[in-house]
Amino acid sequence: MQALMERIMQDGNILNDGVLKVDSFVTHQVDPDLMAAIGQRFAEVFKEYGITKVVTIESSGIVPAIYTAQALQVPMIFARKSKSLTMNEELLTASVYSFTKQVTSTVSISRKFLSKEDKVLIIDDFLANGQAAKGLVELCQQAEAKVLGIGILIEKSFQNGRQLLEEMQLKVVSLARISSLADGKIQFLEGDA
Ligand code: 5GP
Repeated sequence: MQALMERIMQDGNILNDGVLKVDSFVTHQVDPDLMAAIGQRFAEVFKEYGITKVVTIESSGIVPAIYTAQALQVPMIFARKSKSLTMNEELLTASVYSFTKQVTSTVSISRKFLSKEDKVLIIDDFLANGQAAKGLVELCQQAEAKVLGIGILIEKSFQNGRQLLEEMQLKVVSLARISSLADGKIQFLEGDA
């Protein structure tokens, strides 16, 4: 997606060879027009799939996921990282190792929001080693919901997340694919959506 790649070039900051900071338009301050366009793009790609729920993980996945869900006219569910007192129903749970925080946390979704009739599109801001997406897939599997695709804003293709998910027979659509952050330069792969 050209607009996202241009924005990454303009406002993305390389923290080190492995981490890109996009806090001025995705992960902290958010550009709603760009996010709406991202939602439209995912909705266009997945419009024939009969998606019934968009699933993401808090917190940075929520904004692109809500725009995608609105464009597809389906509900959005975000997996929670800490258990709230109000989550007193049966839960689907999975362990996720966080690439940026370097801790493992339990993520959960109330069972009542996913069922075996659901066709799920998973959305997240980044794909690194695939652990967040894999945890969300596990939650869907516990509910016997079908995961029909994974939509990612920024894939770091030099890490192995895509490979892990494709080995699980999952369709991965990334709007920007970064091949390298080495030497202070952002390089993109061809073949983004
Ligand atoms: P994975 O689970 O695929 O290893 O990592 C994806 C998760 O880690 C995303 O949900 C995102 O929050 C975070 N993440 C991974 N790499 C980056 C990065 O380069 N920059 C930022 N801001 N977040 C990242």
